[in-house]
Amino acid sequence: MTECPICKRRIEDYPTLHYAKCIINKFVQLYEPTIPKAKPSKNVSKILQKIMEDLKHQANTKLPKEFYEDGNFIRLLDFVEKTLIFISENDGHYRAWLAWLLIKIQTELNAQAVQFNPEKYHKKIHGRLPLDPPLLFYDYLAQHPSYKEEKNDHKPIPK
Ligand SMILES: [Zn+2]
Repeated sequence: MTECPICKRRIEDYPTLHYAKCIINKFVQLYEPTIPKAKPSKNVSKILQKIMEDLKHQANTKLPKEFYEDGNFIRLLDFVEKTLIFISENDGHYRAWLAWLLIKIQTELNAQAVQFNPEKYHKKIHGRLPLDPPLLFYDYLAQHPSYKEEKNDHKPIPK
């Protein structure tokens, strides 16, 4: 058992993870107010806003509340959204790299969706909470349009 030098709480498990999260939480609390709120006008900013709003909606409504009782995760998402949109609106070079990141994410998810195996998915969800975050990801892959196009002769995913 050790004491966190930042929040002074006593920590039993994963002290390194706790410290990292504590530092991030403090950083977000300190610097979030210094970043100006930018109205998304560029395509990249609008896409980022849409993604972040959806992520926050999922976290607020679909996942067990005990994950987010302290509000740190939602604050982190707010901070990431505000920061990325501010940068995207004001710096064309960074905006281009953010666009590249979005394209790479799309490419990677398309590749994973093509390889997606529903039987393996069914084994993985056995005995798990229905709202486990990785399960949401598998659900996403199962509904992904490129997955359906590539494997439209597959058996339906067991419920
Ligand atoms: Zn701490």
